[in-house]
Amino acid sequence: MTLTTKLRPDDALVLIDVQNDFLPGGARAVPRADEIIPVLNAYLARFARRRLPVFATRDWHPLNHCSFHAQSGEWPPHAVAQTRGAEFPPSLNLPPRAITIAKGCDPDREALSAFAGTRLEQDLRLAGARRLFVGGLATEYAVLHTVREALHRGFRVCLLTDAIRAMNLSDRDGSVAEAEMVRLGAQPITFEALTRSNPGASALLTDQYQLTMLGGYFAAEMEETAVFEFFVRRLPADWNFLVAAGLEQALEYLEHFRLTPAELDWLQTRGGCRPDRVRRLRELRFTGDVHAMPEGTIFFPDEPILRVTAPIAEAQIVETRLVNLLHFQTLIASKAVRSVLAAPGKALVDFGARRAHGAEASLLAARACYLAGFDGTSNVLAGAEFEVPLAGTMAHSFIEACETEEEAFLRFARANPDHVVLLLDTYDTEAAARKVVALAPALHAEGIRIQGVRLDSGDLDEQARAVRAILDDGGLRTATIFASGNLDEHELHRLVAGGAPIDGFGIGSRVVTSADAPYLDCAYKLQSYAGTPRCKLSEAKATWPGAKQVYRHFDHDGPMAFDVIATAEETRLGLPLLECVMHQGQRTGDDPALADSARRLRRQLALLPPVLRGRERAVAYPVVKSQALQTLARRLGLVPSAARTGARLGPVGRRHAGFEGRIHADATPASGEEHDVEDNVMI
Ligand code: ZN
Repeated sequence: MTLTTKLRPDDALVLIDVQNDFLPGGARAVPRADEIIPVLNAYLARFARRRLPVFATRDWHPLNHCSFHAQSGEWPPHAVAQTRGAEFPPSLNLPPRAITIAKGCDPDREALSAFAGTRLEQDLRLAGARRLFVGGLATEYAVLHTVREALHRGFRVCLLTDAIRAMNLSDRDGSVAEAEMVRLGAQPITFEALTRSNPGASALLTDQYQLTMLGGYFAAEMEETAVFEFFVRRLPADWNFLVAAGLEQALEYLEHFRLTPAELDWLQTRGGCRPDRVRRLRELRFTGDVHAMPEGTIFFPDEPILRVTAPIAEAQIVETRLVNLLHFQTLIASKAVRSVLAAPGKALVDFGARRAHGAEASLLAARACYLAGFDGTSNVLAGAEFEVPLAGTMAHSFIEACETEEEAFLRFARANPDHVVLLLDTYDTEAAARKVVALAPALHAEGIRIQGVRLDSGDLDEQARAVRAILDDGGLRTATIFASGNLDEHELHRLVAGGAPIDGFGIGSRVVTSADAPYLDCAYKLQSYAGTPRCKLSEAKATWPGAKQVYRHFDHDGPMAFDVIATAEETRLGLPLLECVMHQGQRTGDDPALADSARRLRRQLALLPPVLRGRERAVAYPVVKSQALQTLARRLGLVPSAARTGARLGPVGRRHAGFEGRIHADATPASGEEHDVEDNVMI
């Protein structure tokens, strides 16, 4: 849909002939015309809220109009002036200020265009309108002619494709007319495009180099299947593992991938894209296969978490957004899970919306935190979009707005009797705790229980202990203490390990911005083309070739022991981590519920070796390359020890301390001239 979806002061809404006679049951009914009324009402409400002008045209025919059968015209008598058929339906919420334009009043003129013989242009100019949002009836008659005239007269036109209907006397009249309007320069839009400005929904959210490369692929007729894989090259300094996240949004993106007529038009007219290239882009959809680790899977450097198999142009153009989606949620889930491990048994709530880097980041961070094991979010839209449980209490402004703290507590408790959590640190925290104790009996008499209190500043440990003592002495033993304020896994650990009597934590900025590691060194790389494995040999960025699978092995007593990165063709022992989630552009299963993905991670955390659960970097979890993969790499000129993983590793004994001896012999690589790290850990 159109790129410019925000309403501007020079916009006007123009409804064409939404009259009783054109609705089902009317004299000249347009099929399914009634469906557009609620959509038009949504547009009307939007325009009213912005105080933008609304015009409604109507046929206002004399009894002897030339288009009627009696005058050897094409139509039965319809929309005769002053009759019910000519009126607007009562269900159409035209605002009182809407300007009505009567057309077709001259008995001798057909007058399909709303500009023909009317004062429409003059009124539009008076209203300052330069861009017209046009919807109504019928697409191939009055709408087409009006749009054509509007463009001809220098107006810009947005065609409301969800609020027009065609007579379709022959099958494709409507779609032909729509295409004609777009060809003439009308921008097709829908109400959703007007209200939702999610930039990620556009296929243009890609890097320019993808388009230039696609031009190259098209020109050389390179249409063979490519395999790309997304993986992380190394862990942030203090981290020991990562959590796969963002797959759901990635699949949604692939499923709906297409360039809209407006985007293609922009590419050609202003984006500098050649017409032949635009023609190819017009047809582009994602028709490939995707294998991926389900969200909530624990993974390690070099392990692909997503593999795309598709004609090369499709697999290439989606790179930017796929990385953008997988990187961010994987980063935040991997950061958030550190808080979950640092505060076992405590309730954790995402408070990050306000300081997240943008609207989409706030939503996806709330999602990633929930996936990582948080209990909820304060972000209401995340609750609506992802069914993340909502949590929230009160802020200092509520206390300050009331005359006294007691008054504030009472008002809040009475207004939210089922969720009474009172904020203590606006003035004097301990005094506030004593006020809560003092108010409790009165509230109790009203049937209201004080659920808990919240601390939002100062030394949380010290304050929590003081408040706990006051609450306990006052008989409020079941009231919980919830704390927030610049928390991360290190601070949580300090509080929890120190025994601070805090039951739950609100966590914001440091987690949703992943403050200590604001990005992952990740990549989406070509691994094979036309059936031939490919790899990159550049220093420190070399990649392991070919389509791959990751197998996880467990110790007899349960915990994860080591992973093997193998070629996708091998059949091996161990648990394969990548599953087929999309086949020929269609998802293979239902979208998993986010709560199920969170449960998957919880099960995996229970199997995570204890040495990897800490907040500081421990020994590395062993990830070895299968013999077949190493042989393939050598064949392509990749010296495994020069491949990224091998190159910068210290002595293996230190790196994998605690893991040696556990790796099965079947993972042993071919003995090569290079003495790489994987050789060393083999037994
Ligand atoms: Zn008419």
